[in-house]
Parts: sequence; C-alpha cells; structure tokens
Amino acid sequence: MKIIVLKFGGSSVGTIERIKKIANIIVGYKKKGYKPIVVSSAMSGMTNDLIRKSKSVSHSFNPSEHDVLVSAGEQISCSLIAGRLNHLGHKSQSWMGWQIPILTEGMHSFSRITYIYKKKIIDYLKLGGVPIIAGFQGLNSNNRITTLGRGGSDASAIMCAKFFKAKKCIIYTDVQGVYTTDPNTIKNAKKIKVISYEEMLEMASLGAKVMQPTSIQDARLNRIDIEVKSSFVKKDGTKITKRKNIISNKIIRGISCTKNDAKVTLIGVKDRPGIAASIFKPLSNNAINVDMVVQNISANGKETDLTFTIKSEDLIKTQKLIQKNTKISFRNLIVDKNVSKVSIIGVGMIATPGVTYRMFQALAKKNINILVISTSEIKISVLINKRNISKAILALHKEFKLDK
Ligand code: ADP
Ligand code: ASP
Ligand code: MG
Repeated sequence: MKIIVLKFGGSSVGTIERIKKIANIIVGYKKKGYKPIVVSSAMSGMTNDLIRKSKSVSHSFNPSEHDVLVSAGEQISCSLIAGRLNHLGHKSQSWMGWQIPILTEGMHSFSRITYIYKKKIIDYLKLGGVPIIAGFQGLNSNNRITTLGRGGSDASAIMCAKFFKAKKCIIYTDVQGVYTTDPNTIKNAKKIKVISYEEMLEMASLGAKVMQPTSIQDARLNRIDIEVKSSFVKKDGTKITKRKNIISNKIIRGISCTKNDAKVTLIGVKDRPGIAASIFKPLSNNAINVDMVVQNISANGKETDLTFTIKSEDLIKTQKLIQKNTKISFRNLIVDKNVSKVSIIGVGMIATPGVTYRMFQALAKKNINILVISTSEIKISVLINKRNISKAILALHKEFKLDK
C-alpha cells in the first residue's frame, strides 16, 4: 500500500474555508494513487483557549483532566475534515487517539508515543477510506487521555509514518517550509531546501516553532524523511533528512530565538565543592529546566557569582525555591525577564574555525551586549536584551550570508 501521512496544523484547519481547501489536497493525493492517513491539529487558537479556560478554573488543574480538556480541539477539526470528505463523495472517518489506540508514556502534557495499533486503520485503508487521526493525543497505561506537548501533532504524524510504514510524511503549515529564520519576523528569511535532523532539532529546540523538537527526535531515531510545506500555496517546501543526503557549503543553516527566558543571578555565593549541585537540585526536583549557566571564577576563593536561565513561567517558583534553600548562602538575588536567546545553527561550524568570533563581532558592531554564552558542536547561543532581538538576527543573517 502506498501510504502517505498528511499532517495539517492549526492555521491549515483554522476556518471552514481552509478545511474545504485541505480536503481538496487530500483528494488530490487519493487521485494520485496514495492511501492518505490524515493527522490534524486543532483549529488555530482553540488549544490556547482551552488552556486559558483550565487556568481560569484552577491554577493547579488536575494534570489528567487538563489533557482531557486541551485535547478536545482536535476532535472538532477531525470530524469537520471527515465530514467534508464525505460531502465530496469519499469514505472518511475520524479517530481519536484512544480509539486506535495510540499508546503513550510519560507525564501528562509531555507524553511520548510508544506504540500505535494498526489493524483498524489498515482495514479501513483497504476499504478505500481516509482515516482522520487526532494529533496531539494518546492514551496511557491507566487508560487516561494524554497529550504530547505543544505542537505535538507533528509527533503524532511522524509516529504514524513510522508505524504505518508510510512512503512519505508531509507536514502542511502556514509557511512554505523551514526558513533561515522566522519569515513572519524577518522579511529576507530564505526558504531552506533541505536540512538535517540535527540542525532542525537545534533550530526547533532553540525557538523555531515550525516543528516540534520531540517530533524531530522521533523522525531522526526512525529515519523518517519529512517534507514541510504550505497548505495555502502550491510550492516546494523543505525536506528534513539525514546529513548524508545533503550537499551544501553553508556554514550556518539558520538562526532561532526564544522570547520567554528569564535570567537569574546569585551574587556572592559561598564557594565550596558541590555548591552548584545544591542550587540546582531543588529546581530539578520541581521539573524546572535550567538552560544556560555561567559561574565566575571566585577571585578570593570564597565567593562566586552564578548566573543561569530558565523559562520565564518558572521564575516565581525558582525564586521561592532559592530563597528557602538552606543549603546555600548568597548576598543577593537578581532576576531579569527582558532577555532573549539568539542562536546560530549549522553543522558546517564543526569544520570551520572563526564562527564564534564572527558572531560576536557582528553583534558588537551593532552595539549589542552579550550577557551569557553557550555552545554545542553545531550551535552557538547568546543571551541578549530582548529589545535587540531583531537587530541581532538581521546582523547575523547578513554576516553568515543567509539571505543569499
Ligand atoms: P502549525 O499550526 O501548522 O503547526 P506553527 O504555528 O506551529 O504551525 O508553526 C509555523 C510557524 O512557525 C510559522 O507561522 C512561523 O511564524 C514560525 N517559525 C518560527 N521559526 C521559523 C522558521 N525558521 N521557519 C519557518 N517558520 C518558522
Ligand atoms: N493543538 C495542539 C497545540 O496547539 C497541537 C498542535 O498544534 O500540534 O499545541
Ligand atoms: Mg505546530
């Protein structure tokens, strides 16, 4: 069977007109001899609205009930797509995650797909039907609905491609593919024809919302090639594939930024072996993810300053945990929410000296102060003041000739 997985994101199913349009796209694949399995997200804005509702009921909404609530948007879009296909004369039916079932493990709101039962869907495909599967949701071992993290329909699509052995997996979205940087913020961003899993994973983890990071990990582990393209215009998109398939001379493939970081600095921390562990242990126990870390060398061997970044939504909790931590002593605690992390990403930097210098120099020329730096083999991230984000991205885009 020539199975193809077609995933439609929130804006692609955002209105009835758009649903009619994507139904035609699905029919187009059927006419070409494919057996489409459709994965849909909720209509745009719907999941945000459900999350807002949960918060207005309670700030500590039961995690299991939270997933029942926030997964509800997908039910609406899936039935509308199936309904439209029926209207056009095609056999189609919606499936919620629990009906298939799609099995998951892990915490509510951040679960991962472990297995997808195939029989019902395969039987339906054999009868000529088009299954419309709800993205973003699954079922855990307690028989409760789970969700896969924001943007999690991408992961649903990739795992469907894996379990149903699809020939292709296409992610339809509101932009024409993966760009060198967010095309909705920087006008001269360029569409990338082909990008490696590793680069896409870094770009997504460092803020490029176009693909959910977990979904790229799933794709890489299972060697699923992905095509990201627009459901609005018929143009070639971006292929995400293994490094070996890519011939390119670009040092830097793209630039990402995050806008929800907060910087925490502890001044005058009593320096002793294990101090960093004592600071971070309670944060880790409370599922607070620490991102960038810098510790100054203590000048007098007694005191040091330590800076780290976290998600801004974790700031209040972090402040409380540090203040009540009896295992550490420090003189002052400073926090800053007006920070943003800008990162350049590219496998080409492994073999190219001087990339760090060029990045810092380009920012210095624009008078942009770097607050914290972190690097890995294929990315360099800097923390800067939020007001400088666009200026920094433009300068780096130009420096690494990404608009060419
Ligand atoms: P969907 O609802 O289809 O899943 P998302 O909103 O999750 O779509 O992702 C698409 C959005 O990602 C685009 O509208 C764009 O603003 C944003 N984006 C951020 N960085 C990039 C990038 N490097 N390339 C393409 N889009 C990006
Ligand atoms: N509807 C979910 C969200 O908004 C899943 C997705 O869009 O992929 O996060
Ligand atoms: Mg998305």
